[in-house]
Amino acid sequence: MALWIGIDDTDSRKAGCTTYVAAVAMRRLEALGARLIGYPRLVRLNPNCPYKTRGNAAVAFKVEGVELEKAEDVMTGVIEELSELDEGAETSIAFLRGEPDERLRGFYWRAVRELIPLEDGFRVAEEVGAKLIYYNGGMGIIGALAAIGADLSLGKTYELIAHRRREYWGTVRRIDPVSVFDMDRATRPYTFDNIDPESGEIRIAPHTPCPVLLGIRGVNPEILEKAFKMIRIYEPIEFVTIFETNQATDVHYQKLRTSDLSDGVSAIVEGIVAEAPRIDVGGHVFFKLRDMHGEIWCAAYEPTKSFRKLILQLIPGDEIVAYGAVKQKPQGLTLNLEKIYIRVLVENIIERPPTCPDCRKRMTSMGKNKGFKCRRCGTRLPEECKEIVRVPRAIKPGFYEVPPSARRHLTRPLMLGELLRDN
Ligand SMILES: [Zn+2]
Repeated sequence: MALWIGIDDTDSRKAGCTTYVAAVAMRRLEALGARLIGYPRLVRLNPNCPYKTRGNAAVAFKVEGVELEKAEDVMTGVIEELSELDEGAETSIAFLRGEPDERLRGFYWRAVRELIPLEDGFRVAEEVGAKLIYYNGGMGIIGALAAIGADLSLGKTYELIAHRRREYWGTVRRIDPVSVFDMDRATRPYTFDNIDPESGEIRIAPHTPCPVLLGIRGVNPEILEKAFKMIRIYEPIEFVTIFETNQATDVHYQKLRTSDLSDGVSAIVEGIVAEAPRIDVGGHVFFKLRDMHGEIWCAAYEPTKSFRKLILQLIPGDEIVAYGAVKQKPQGLTLNLEKIYIRVLVENIIERPPTCPDCRKRMTSMGKNKGFKCRRCGTRLPEECKEIVRVPRAIKPGFYEVPPSARRHLTRPLMLGELLRDN
């Protein structure tokens, strides 16, 4: 019988990496005669989780030909050797014999879209007969169980991860950046997030002292192997693993009305711009979005860079679809924008005083509906003489997104377009 093993929360905020722990564990199990079935999974959970470590990722894989007790020994051995238990990591391992059923699938969907209390994790494990081993508080059981239950039927992508030899951890990664740009040009959009076009930075290599040398994301395993071969690397590699993943699939979003929004969910909200966007002292841009049920603040924060310029072009009346994470802020519930679809742009009509027929100077309004007066020659004109100007809109309807550095792992980049449907 197949055995599913899920792992989560091996890393404190400082170092360590769940993918590395999984990769080591899989190889040790294989050395004992176990066979890996399919690709291991790298599963991202609700990105709004307040207690998440980096990226809120969990891993699960399926093996055959190994006894549960033997697998437990291997897993606890690897965790105790590599996990950041002294740093407070609430590392957890879940074991499930056979295939996950609807209860664990449902648990996965909640873990992606909600904040799940720890008790619910223990309860579902008991219901489905999953065995748990956990350290410290055991918060990782949520991710370990959700990774086993992961439902990738609505779309998946793949990530190739190359791990570093231990003696290189914490040192500068020796990757030729030029080869990354070449790889990006040759394989895009079948690979994505290789570079940040706005900053020109390479995005496949992290900057943390963790065991990951690089990770390449793509729509199928074949393109990842091809892309990896194109990168010039000047350090030995420990091993390379391809994961299937829910990254870049938009599965965290729910279509919600403004009245149904709550702290911690990721939402798609359709509405009309109710108040003109304005920029505040920190460089953050805010505006109000209204639907038939109420209003919500939308925010494009400073790290969203040039996306803010787009948002500042919106005017009241524009119809948009906003994608983002809902957070409780002092001004009220706020949708932290990740992308928007502009459906309809209204005409930007400005009314202003006419020019004086005698001296050609712009006249002055004498108050609302009180007509106009020329400051120079005293000529008066009635209100009906006001000038109506149609200001051309500087933007077009369509999809717009934040730069990759401000996008969350689960959010689908626009460059993927319809590609995922074919995979
Ligand atoms: Zn005049």
